[in-house]
Amino acid sequence: MEHLPTTETKTSETEKKKSIYSLQLHELKEWLQENGEKPFRAEQIFDWLYKKRETAFEDMSNLSKGLREKLATQFEITTLNTVIQQTSSDGTIKFLFELHDGYSIETVLMRHEYGNSVCVTTQVGCRIGCSFCASTLGGLKRHLEAGEIVAQVVKVQKALDESDERVSSVVIMGIGEPFDNYDNMMAFLKIVNHDKSLNIGARHITVSTSGIIPKIYKFADENMQINFAISLHAPNTELRTRLMPINKAYKLDDLMKAVRYYIDKTGRRISFEYGLFGGVNDSTEHAEELADLVKGLKCHVNLIPVNYVPERDYVRTPKEKIFAFEKTLKNRGINVTIRREQGHDIDAACGQLRAKERKEETR
Ligand code: SAH
Repeated sequence: MEHLPTTETKTSETEKKKSIYSLQLHELKEWLQENGEKPFRAEQIFDWLYKKRETAFEDMSNLSKGLREKLATQFEITTLNTVIQQTSSDGTIKFLFELHDGYSIETVLMRHEYGNSVCVTTQVGCRIGCSFCASTLGGLKRHLEAGEIVAQVVKVQKALDESDERVSSVVIMGIGEPFDNYDNMMAFLKIVNHDKSLNIGARHITVSTSGIIPKIYKFADENMQINFAISLHAPNTELRTRLMPINKAYKLDDLMKAVRYYIDKTGRRISFEYGLFGGVNDSTEHAEELADLVKGLKCHVNLIPVNYVPERDYVRTPKEKIFAFEKTLKNRGINVTIRREQGHDIDAACGQLRAKERKEETR
């Protein structure tokens, strides 16, 4: 990240116990062994945390009192404090959670025919600076610990427990740039994916990046069967730089090389997110240019009608023009869909609720 602007970040890790949700099963086994306990206890603890969704060590009744005490002195079970919970007419639920240090994050539950999907936040704020995005207002405050990302899914799962439903997929598309918090994001993926934990299949997890190129190579080499999306938003480098300053450090040409590497290495299809910003990137010429850019790639283009952000002055592309853009791509043989909007009546696009409710954090 040496090319990106640095922001002063506030960390209070020193005052805080590590979240037990940050530990992978093998790490918990190691900790148990180091502390004179049997490694099989790790499975029991995982069962309490992820299957029974217990939030107090003292209630983990099949563990010895000594072990429960040791756990409690070393770790916390992150319970996020719900500040706001808004339900949309389409069933989408948006949560504003408060962290131990008072910062806030957003998590969204989306309901689809195929199941329940949770959109998680990876950072408090963001330092990427995309010109249309509410999450980056106020810059980056701090990274989330892996356990603070896991806790979002556990918390939503607990809400779904009441109606006997399950979180079936996860999208890492909330506040923050996941590849700017790479190690915690990877730990999060491995934890929620584990069958002794929440058991969310890799094919049901999607991660999206604004294009931090070295991390795209690294991610390709992880060989996980995870869905991968790139926020593209422009068909040429000049326009992309205008919309996304990250394109100065990580240029479109190089980004496309990294994309090719990813597809070759994993054999997986990539998704491109393309926000349609009225009068900016939504003409037929832009669609043709986009088709030239992605043709021949194993990919899919997801058109996102811009979400209005009061602090930004982008306007929506009219419906007919959205369909025309889609048609141009289709005629060129590109796989394309228009993103179905959810939670439009509740500020469900990333960063909007936090920007509105926590003005002091986003200035
Ligand atoms: N930081 C990552 C993860 C965020 S995913 C990334 O950039 O990919 C959220 C998606 O919504 C990204 O594609 C982002 O560019 C897009 N987005 C952000 N603000 C938007 C807005 N106002 N309208 C439409 N899309 C927006």
